[in-house]
Amino acid sequence: MTELQSAGLRLADPSAGVASRRGGAGPSDHKAVTVDGRTIMVPVHTSTAWESPFLADPPDRAGVSVLRRGGVAVATVSFPRQPRFYALQTMDGIPYSHIATLHGADVLATTVLQTCIRYESRRKACRFCAIGQSLAAGRTVARKTPEQLAEVARAAVLLDGVRHMVMTTGTPPTPDRGAAVLCESAFAVRAAVDLPIQGQCEPPDDDRWFERLKAAGVDTLGMHLEAVTPAVRDRTMPGKATVPVERYLEAFAAAIGVFGRGQVSTYILAGLGDTQDAILAMCDRLVALGVYPFVVPFVPISGTPLESHPAPSPEFMRAILRPLGDMLSGAGLRSRDIKAGCGRCGACSSLSAFESPERPC
Ligand code: SF4
Repeated sequence: MTELQSAGLRLADPSAGVASRRGGAGPSDHKAVTVDGRTIMVPVHTSTAWESPFLADPPDRAGVSVLRRGGVAVATVSFPRQPRFYALQTMDGIPYSHIATLHGADVLATTVLQTCIRYESRRKACRFCAIGQSLAAGRTVARKTPEQLAEVARAAVLLDGVRHMVMTTGTPPTPDRGAAVLCESAFAVRAAVDLPIQGQCEPPDDDRWFERLKAAGVDTLGMHLEAVTPAVRDRTMPGKATVPVERYLEAFAAAIGVFGRGQVSTYILAGLGDTQDAILAMCDRLVALGVYPFVVPFVPISGTPLESHPAPSPEFMRAILRPLGDMLSGAGLRSRDIKAGCGRCGACSSLSAFESPERPC
């Protein structure tokens, strides 16, 4: 699984399963693939994926494909079907899939604000981010209203059985850094349907936002470091790096006091330049605070300044995920105990597989 996520996948039939995600905030250019009963997001549109030794044959009538490595059949995989809610649209004609999408097997994900103060200038933008691409291509809307999110979330629960929701946001030019739009969005969704929610934003200016987010119906919070070494942060995300790591650590400690141990997480993109030791040292600090460090392999997204940056090798990923799995198990932090969000979904990293005693090789 670690190898497939690092190398990516070529598809004999690109239309198999749920349409792959291109552009948008966070990880992109992936397709959901079910391997050994577990749904993971695998890069399919990246330059690494085009040269991958892995190829999925066209699916048979049951939706099952043979996975080949270097031409030799190594496994069977399947593709989650297109969700039913994608066929619907709002009264004013916006497709539901432009408001929220299915991630992994059972996660509804949305970017509430598809604009970001960091993205507005090439000098400040995170060099791995594609938040503006799906907007420019007309595949999403710039601002999802609370009413739209509630309508789509209800349909996704009723028609497709989604189990939790991720609400991320571009960073607005306000000191709350997106916490306010997450509050109003979560409140509307929770009034419409019983669906655990993870909110994701930069650390707000005032820690009282954590109480407000919780009161609005946010169950878990993600504040994403992405990179951990100052030089790597400055180089890859010059705007976001103006918020120092120490502010993240303060905000994590305050958020843990509100959401509880293991219900606050961060995304770390391995492969941007941080060493294995630097990532593990940061994870050590995070785990001591009770934060779940969701370490994922960096995926170079087409059209971004880092599109030609190499994806990390499977060996590099295993050298981080194996000791991190031990660290998490030792601290009693488990993905399955997370109420909502990326750490619980786990489709973008094989980390959760390293938490269990039967670990992958
Ligand atoms: S881990 Fe997060 S970003 Fe990845 S598929 Fe799951 S919900 Fe989406």
